[in-house]
Amino acid sequence: MWNSPKVGILGGGQLGRMLVESANRLNIQCNVLDADNSPAKQISAHDGHVTGSFKEPDAVRKLAETCDVITAEIEHVDTYALEEVASKVRVEPSWQAIRTIQNKFNQKEHLRKYGIPMADHRELVNNTPEELAQVGEQLGYPMMLKSKTMAYDGRGNFRVNSKEDIPEALEALKDRPLYAEKWAYFKMELAVMVIKTKDGVLSYPTVETVQEDSICKLVYAPARNVPEAINQQAQALARKAVSAFEGKGAFGVEMFLLEDNSLMLCELASRIHNSGHWTIEGCALSQFDSHIRAILDLPIPPKSLELLQPSIMLNIIGGATPDSHLKATEAALNIPNASIHLYSKGDAKPGRKMGHVTVAAATMHEAETMIQPLIDVVDKMRA
Ligand code: ATP
Ligand code: MG
Ligand code: MG
Repeated sequence: MWNSPKVGILGGGQLGRMLVESANRLNIQCNVLDADNSPAKQISAHDGHVTGSFKEPDAVRKLAETCDVITAEIEHVDTYALEEVASKVRVEPSWQAIRTIQNKFNQKEHLRKYGIPMADHRELVNNTPEELAQVGEQLGYPMMLKSKTMAYDGRGNFRVNSKEDIPEALEALKDRPLYAEKWAYFKMELAVMVIKTKDGVLSYPTVETVQEDSICKLVYAPARNVPEAINQQAQALARKAVSAFEGKGAFGVEMFLLEDNSLMLCELASRIHNSGHWTIEGCALSQFDSHIRAILDLPIPPKSLELLQPSIMLNIIGGATPDSHLKATEAALNIPNASIHLYSKGDAKPGRKMGHVTVAAATMHEAETMIQPLIDVVDKMRA
């Protein structure tokens, strides 16, 4: 067996927690950098964890001393600290990849050089109403105003429907570095998990994602009523986009399927991703298993990334009341084939991801029928 490598993880939220679950099954120790008792630390009892933030250089340096390879469950980390420790410890994916990807505008400028199709976009330099009005003339309305950095779950996006919305949009995203995107009239949102290894680039099947209030709500694997040719094209596009970056591990690629069946990249993430949670039940190797193997140069048989059974993943998101996620869980306990994952994050807040449920079945129709009562419960509890 290999020489018990230790993995350092920047971030101990739900993604880190599910990564630790995977690593635990291979006796691989994960040292987590985050607050004490963060979700990932709760399921990993040893004294190798580091208390602090993935944004503090000292804490990143301290973590680097405890492990053989560092990875991240989030892209909003201090990449200058990562650059510094990269001379002593392996960093996967590379700090360069994380640095480029964590700024959505830089990410798109980089991908443009590789011919990846994306919505037309413009950088804002002064963030003035006049500047945004000029961009509006060029891109047309509606357009999406976006923060370049620190964006997640749509926090950082503002839909600008007309010139009249400009003051409100700039107020909503004030003090943030901004760019604007042409509106993408998509008929479906697709996503592909890509695994970059020392030998090449692998991908999971294309899934359909459904966002509500810009937060991922449902993932259907495989994407429903999407021809095999598009499934393959989306995987090829996702692999091509990820190939533009250095480093190993899982990358989540979000795409738009347009009316004419062409594909456009929405954004990509240099990490394990919500759109890949279904792989825990839906494939022989989950995205978390594959990520651990990829960063440690362990074998990943490509067949293990194939879909075993149609699967639907529903996020359990904090609703109107602090216990709404528990009510959703109670309902999920009665759903056949439902695998329930709670993240142990403490109190729910509206919009906070508290857990997820995956239902796998012999057919997509069967999975849809099984999960519908749970979707009804969740819809009733929306904040
Ligand atoms: P995530 O949680 O996935 O990181 P994010 O905050 O980075 O989200 P995006 O992925 O850029 O935000 O956008 C969130 C959602 O907003 C998309 O999934 C899509 O539904 C919608 N959206 C984003 N860009 C556009 C666009 N140019 N045109 C139309 N809709 C868009
Ligand atoms: Mg994002
Ligand atoms: Mg997104």
